[in-house]
Amino acid sequence: MSIPVEVRLGAAPHNREDAVRAAGAVLAQAGHVHPAYVDSLLQREKVANTFLGQGVAIPHGMIEDKHLVQRTGLAVLQVPAGVRWGDDAKQARLVVAIAAASDEHIAVLRRLTRLMRDEALMRRLVETSDPQDIVRALTAEDEAVATAAPALEDFPLGREVALNYPNGLHARPAGQWAQTAQRFAARVHVRCGSTVVDGKNVAALLSLGAGRGATLRLSAQGPDAEEALRALRAVIVRLGDEEARQAQLAASRQSQAQGLGSALGDWQPTARQTFTGIAASPGLVIGTLVQAEGAALEVEDRYRSAPLEAEALERALQAALAELETLSAQARAAGRTEQAGIFHAHAGLLRDAALLQAVSRGIVQGHGAAWAWRHALGERVAAQRALPDATLAARAADLQDAGERVLRQLLGLPAATLEAAWPADAILLADDLSPSVTAQIDPSRVRGFCTARGGPTAHTAILARALGLPAVVASGPDLLAAEAGTPAILDGYRGRLYVAPSATALIEARDKIALLARRQAEEARTRLLPATTTDGHTVEIAANVNRADQVERALQAGAEGVGLMRTEFLFLERDTVPDEEAQYQALRAMVEALGGRPLVVRTLDIGGDKQVPHLQLPVEDNPFLGVRGARLALRRDDLLMPQLRALYRAARHGPLQVMFPMISTVEELHALRQRMAQVREELDAPEVAVGIMIEVPSAALLADRLAAHVDFFSIGTNDLTQYALAVDRQHPELAGMADSLHPAVLRLVERTVAGARRHGRWVGVCGGLAGEPLGAALLVGLGVDELSMSVGDLGPIKALLRRHSLAELQALAQRALDVDSADEVRALGAALRGEDAAEGAQP
Ligand code: PEP
Ligand code: MG
Repeated sequence: MSIPVEVRLGAAPHNREDAVRAAGAVLAQAGHVHPAYVDSLLQREKVANTFLGQGVAIPHGMIEDKHLVQRTGLAVLQVPAGVRWGDDAKQARLVVAIAAASDEHIAVLRRLTRLMRDEALMRRLVETSDPQDIVRALTAEDEAVATAAPALEDFPLGREVALNYPNGLHARPAGQWAQTAQRFAARVHVRCGSTVVDGKNVAALLSLGAGRGATLRLSAQGPDAEEALRALRAVIVRLGDEEARQAQLAASRQSQAQGLGSALGDWQPTARQTFTGIAASPGLVIGTLVQAEGAALEVEDRYRSAPLEAEALERALQAALAELETLSAQARAAGRTEQAGIFHAHAGLLRDAALLQAVSRGIVQGHGAAWAWRHALGERVAAQRALPDATLAARAADLQDAGERVLRQLLGLPAATLEAAWPADAILLADDLSPSVTAQIDPSRVRGFCTARGGPTAHTAILARALGLPAVVASGPDLLAAEAGTPAILDGYRGRLYVAPSATALIEARDKIALLARRQAEEARTRLLPATTTDGHTVEIAANVNRADQVERALQAGAEGVGLMRTEFLFLERDTVPDEEAQYQALRAMVEALGGRPLVVRTLDIGGDKQVPHLQLPVEDNPFLGVRGARLALRRDDLLMPQLRALYRAARHGPLQVMFPMISTVEELHALRQRMAQVREELDAPEVAVGIMIEVPSAALLADRLAAHVDFFSIGTNDLTQYALAVDRQHPELAGMADSLHPAVLRLVERTVAGARRHGRWVGVCGGLAGEPLGAALLVGLGVDELSMSVGDLGPIKALLRRHSLAELQALAQRALDVDSADEVRALGAALRGEDAAEGAQP
C-alpha cells in the first residue's frame, strides 16, 4: 500500500523553522495532521536534528503528540537552493515531513534512505518540475529501486534483540543507536531479515525498515566488539521502554480527553459560532469571553535627546521592577509561591546587561527610548526562541512578557492588570497565554481557557490541567476576533468553544455539567464499593497488574484483586531466563502485596508479538499461529517446570490461582495438569485452583468439554478477536478490523459462559473489552462473573455497572448477539448513553 505524498516544488524557505512550518502546513491542509502538529514538528527540531544526509531532512513530530495525526502521509518540500539544517555543511534540498499514524512510514523511510545512495537520482528530484517524479520515487515498489545496498555480512560475534518499539525504528532512536555504536572502535552491523547495515549510520539503520516486533541481529568485530554489542543492546532495550511509555502517554491523553466526556455522546449545541481546537484539559463550563491579552503595542520612533530618552528608560525600568516586586509579594502572601517565583524571575530578565546595552546603543544612534527598547527586545526574544534547548527557548515568552511591562511604562499605558476587569465566570481567550497573565489567574474567577495557538503540551495546557480548568488550544487565529463579554460554552473534552450559544444550548449545557459533576462524584465515591447492579447482581472487578509495586495503586483505584498477572514480563525485563528463585520472589511479593485478595497468575505466554530474544526460539513464518503460550510450555520443560515450582511455592503465602494461555485443545490441558500434579507431589504443596485462558475459537467452542477439567476460565478478548476474525492484532492496515465488539466475538463469549455453567465454573474476562464501557456492559449481560482491566478503567467501569440493572444489560447483550457488525453493536450501545442523557435531564 502506498502512502499519500503531497509535493511543493521550488520552495525557498528562509531558514529551517520556515521550512518545517511550510511542510507542516502542507500536511495540515491535506488533512494528515491537526494544525497544532506543526508545533510538534518544531519541538522535535529543538530536541533532535532530523537531517538524514544527502540533502534530505525528515521533520517528524513528538511521539506524545501522535494523537494529532489524523492519517498517515508525507509532505515533500523541494528546496532547489537548499536551506541550512544545523551547521553549514547540512543543506536540505528535499524536506520530507512525516505524519505517521502507525508504522507504515517505516517502509517509506527505508525507500528514501535507499534512494539517497543514488546521487544522480537525488539531483534529478531536487531539480525536477514534475511533482510526480518525487511521488513516484518515494512510493514505487521496492524492486524498482535501482540502487542496491552495498552488501554487508554479519560478523561471527553477535546477539539478537527484539524490537519492541510501538512505532518501529524511527529517526530518533536510530540516531541514538548510531551514536552509541560510534563510541566504539569495533565495526558494528545490524541485520533485519536479509538486510545488514552499518550500525554507525542513521540513514542505513532506517533503511532496515524495522517494524514493531522485528528481530534484529547485532554483530561486531574489533578490539571492543563485546562492549559495543552490550552497549548497543542496552540502549535498544532502554529506548524500547521509553518509546512504550511515550506511546502510552499519547494514548492516555486521548482517553483522558474522552473518558468522562463520553457522557456527552454526540451532543451538538447550537451557537452563533463554533471553534474547534484540541482538547487540552477536560471539563465543560459556561462563561463569559474575555480577551486576556491586548493587541500588540503601537510604538512610534520619537526622539528628543539622548539624556531625556535615557532618563525615560531608567524611570520605566524602575517602575516595571517595582510593579513586579509588588506582584511577587502579593502572590507570595496568597500562598502562590510558583507565581511569585515567575515575577521574581521577570525582574532578573529586565536587568539583563546585554539587553540594556543594546537599548542604549539604539538611543545613542538617535532613536526614541520606546522604539529602541522594542527593537532590542524583539532581537533578544528571537535569539532566545532559536536556542536549541527547548527549555531555554521557552524562556522567550517570559522575556517578551517582562519586556512589554517596561514598554507600557515608556508609552504611558497602564500595566496589564487584566484580572480586575474580568467577570467572575471568565473564559480567557488568547493567542497563547503569556506567563504574566497565567501567573495572575485566580481560579475562582476563571472558568477555562481557549487559545488560538499552542499544543496540548503548551504552557496553557499544563497550567489548565494543574488548576483543574478545561482548556482548548489551537483553535485558530479567528478566535481573537471573538467579542469580549459574549456568553460561551467551553468543552474541554472534545476541544470546542461555542460562542453565543442558543438558549436551548445553554439549558442543555447546564444539564450536562450537572450530569458530569454527578458522574465524577459518583466515581470517586463508589470506586471502593462493589460493582453491584441496581438489581443486586455483583460482578468482581480486578486489575491487570504484573508487578507487586503496582498493586497498591490498583487497590486504591478500586481493584478487588489481580485478574491477570502476565509472567512473560519477568522474562522480557531482563537479558537471561529468570530462575525458579527469582520467579518465586516476584510471585511471593505479588501475593503479599495483595494481602489475601485474589490473584490469577498466567504462565509464560511467549510467541506472537511477545518475543524474548534470549530464549533463542526458532523464527516462525506465522508466530501467532505457531509455538506460542501453552504450546511452548509443553515443548520446553526447562521453562515450564521451574515456573510451576515457583508458583506452588508462592501459593503457600496466600491465595494464588494458575492460568494457562493459548489453550486450543483438551489434550494440552491434560498434559499441563499432569505436569502440575508432578510438581505438586515433588513439593508436597497445597492444591491451587487452575484455569485457562479462552483466546482461541476452538477453546470457546469446546468450553463445555474443557470446563470439566478446570476451576475457571478467563477470556482473552484481544487474542480471541484476532483469531475469530483472522486479523493480526498489530497489522498496520487491518488492526482496526480486530474489533472485540464484533457479534462473532460476543457469540464466542456466550458459548464460553454456557460451557462453564454446565460445570458450575466462573468466567472472567481479562482482555481489553473488559475495560471498555460498552464492552463491560455486554460481558456482564452475557453472564461473565469477573472483569479484569487496566487500572485507569476501574473507576468508570464500576460506576457504569452500578448505574444499570443486570436485566437491562442482559437484554442489551441479547440484542448485540443478533446483529451483523460491530458498528451495529455500537449503535445499540447508544441506548446506554441515552439513559445517561435522560438522567442528565432530571432536575
Ligand atoms: C488477551 O489476549 O486478551 C490477553 C489478555 O492476553 P494478551 O493480551 O497478553 O495476549
Ligand atoms: Mg492473549
